[in-house]
Amino acid sequence: MIVIGFILGTILGSFVKALADRSLGKKSFWGRSYCLSCHHKLAWYDLFPIASYILLRGKCRYCHKKIGIEYLLVEIGMGILVGFLFWQTPFVIARSEATWQSVFQSSILLVDLLSKTFFITILAVLFLTDLKKMLIPDRVIKPAIVIALVSLIVVTIYKVSYLYYSLSQSMVGRLLLPPHSDYFQRHAIAAAQPLMWGIFMGILIGGFFYGLIIITRGKGMGGGDVKLGAFIGLMLGFPQALFALILAFLTGAVFSIGLIIFGKKHFGQTIPFGPFLVLGSLIMLYWGNQIVDWYLKLGS
Ligand SMILES: [Zn+2]
Repeated sequence: MIVIGFILGTILGSFVKALADRSLGKKSFWGRSYCLSCHHKLAWYDLFPIASYILLRGKCRYCHKKIGIEYLLVEIGMGILVGFLFWQTPFVIARSEATWQSVFQSSILLVDLLSKTFFITILAVLFLTDLKKMLIPDRVIKPAIVIALVSLIVVTIYKVSYLYYSLSQSMVGRLLLPPHSDYFQRHAIAAAQPLMWGIFMGILIGGFFYGLIIITRGKGMGGGDVKLGAFIGLMLGFPQALFALILAFLTGAVFSIGLIIFGKKHFGQTIPFGPFLVLGSLIMLYWGNQIVDWYLKLGS
């Protein structure tokens, strides 16, 4: 599973790099990949992540111009991120015949894995664009927010429908449906929690950044951070998104102080905040439950 995750990650890695380059270059997202110096269209055998780069020794097959090492690094980086996600995911192979319940549980697991992979991919694109040009492109973040919201709604409807269906299949279950009991309503509300918290956290974090922009009169934060904050809130929900935000501020502060100490930047100079939001979100994606548990134990 790690190997499958890694390979999928490297493929997504070349997609991430292309998407980041094309958004910064204001080029169309559609159309085949081509060499940036000789504009020769790349053949399918030029598009194998990592392998193509190594076989061609980092040069274009057609004009022999050097291809930046960044392509290789992004592919390997994404391979590691998605490989690690797959490694963390508890894949259970059902030995018994497929029941409604096992089909439901595997489909929820699959959707969760897909949505996390999607989250990592979008974060990686925005990490690159914000780091290079301090830009969070609308062409990436806006569709990402819409996709996140729609998939949360669809998953919620799916969960509630399954709950209704599974209850209606048995005598005892039917007694838990309205008007006999409020069991169904309570569990339906529980199933809708990720959606409701996601929307709430998205508005909260996006609104928080918007407030910062107004207070600081646009120094430090940009409109891109508002949308990225909303996206992270939607995807991570409560309390994970809040922790991601705190981690972003902490790592950002440590990094900025480091830059000032080593004389690379002076106080008040802006550095992009997006990469730290990405970092905080990834930490919460992988270790969110442990961090929240640890924090709760701290308080008790
Ligand atoms: Zn070329």
